[in-house]
Amino acid sequence: MTSPTTIFDTVESESRSYCRSFPTVFTAARNATLIAEDGTEYTDFLAGCSSLNYGHNDPDMKQALIDYLSADGVAHGLDMFTGAKRAFLESFRDIVLKPRGMDYRLQFTGPTGANAVEAAMKLARKVTGRHNVIAFTNGFHGVTNGALAATGNGYHRGGSGMPLSGVTRMPYDGYYGPDIDTAAMIAKQLDDPSSGIDAPAAFIVETVQGEGGLNAASPEWLRAIAALAKKHGALLIVDDIQAGCGRTGTFFSFETMGIEPDIVTLAKSLSGMGLPFALVMMKPEYDIWGPAEHNGTFRGNNHAFVTAREALEKFWATSAFMGEVQDKGDLLHNRLSAIADRYGFSLRGRGMFRGINTGDGDLAAAICKSCFEQGLIIETSGPEDEIVKVLAPLTIPRDQFERGLDILEEAFDRVLTKQTAKAA
Ligand SMILES: *Cc1c(COP(=O)(O)O)cnc(C)c1O
Repeated sequence: MTSPTTIFDTVESESRSYCRSFPTVFTAARNATLIAEDGTEYTDFLAGCSSLNYGHNDPDMKQALIDYLSADGVAHGLDMFTGAKRAFLESFRDIVLKPRGMDYRLQFTGPTGANAVEAAMKLARKVTGRHNVIAFTNGFHGVTNGALAATGNGYHRGGSGMPLSGVTRMPYDGYYGPDIDTAAMIAKQLDDPSSGIDAPAAFIVETVQGEGGLNAASPEWLRAIAALAKKHGALLIVDDIQAGCGRTGTFFSFETMGIEPDIVTLAKSLSGMGLPFALVMMKPEYDIWGPAEHNGTFRGNNHAFVTAREALEKFWATSAFMGEVQDKGDLLHNRLSAIADRYGFSLRGRGMFRGINTGDGDLAAAICKSCFEQGLIIETSGPEDEIVKVLAPLTIPRDQFERGLDILEEAFDRVLTKQTAKAA
């Protein structure tokens, strides 16, 4: 007997993962709605792990891409000049960089986030002539070997089969609880010539740790880390692959933190439409690569240039969208607070990048499973997968957002009431 998913079970590698939580075949998607082949509609609170901040198949991005395809626009051009790349660079300069007073050079790496992180870490090592990169507990930076060395998660690290070297792990903000200033701990270690910490080439940090459990660093802590980097001659790399492109309420997640990274990585929602596309931004003085020294066949995806430009023009040319995201972030905070308060759980994250720490991976999984049965796609994160993480598209209509949050709330009630009943 074959089922609609037999082909996946018999032919696709066991490495497949999200499909295990959502074992249905999806065939269409619009904004915050995913549609299965049997016609069932699901609200998407996963949004491609924040690769779909503007929802599925935004009509304007889709039309821009259709027009480009119809006109036989260049699909692949290595890293040659194309009209699509020029238009993207102009929009990025005028809409993102200039209004923020930012001066960066843009390097298009291979199309995944890990590709951008690899390039960023290599560049920092090349600039400083040092090998040691400081990364943080619960950091996630991708799973290619160089990036994986900076990733904390033991399950992912265990997949390498190689020593993951060149990185020193330091405690993230709040790692030892609210009373311990981990930036001061790190400062002491770096100041001590006998601490055994090699002089760092870079610090690589997420302002909110997406995969690591939605830990949000305070502006003070980030400023302290930025000052430490400067003092010790290291570059500050902000990995904004998941927290960037509006997820926290501003285009970059660090915009309101009072820091000026030397290098920034972007990927996930950068293309706007879920197309693979990644970017390394570096301060001009660190743009010291030789031509093709860090090369790759897919450096800059022309289809993504088209949709990414449309995303910038549509959502970021004025501040209206930013205000809308901040309002939705407040709504999310209020709704999650009500649930967390009822059960004594804590909240994590900021902006539209928030979740509830249930303290228990099995419990969080049961809640997500219950949501799926009621038509809501939502996942967990954190070291024990104990955080229920809401990653709705930023463009989700308010009523659909509220309905999705209703399903989430009911799932908490259903699963926790059942548990209490079992215990009694
Ligand atoms: C997803 C992610 C990456 C890796 O991106 P891939 O496209 O999966 O390689 C790196 N850093 C952060 C912060 C991420 O969330």
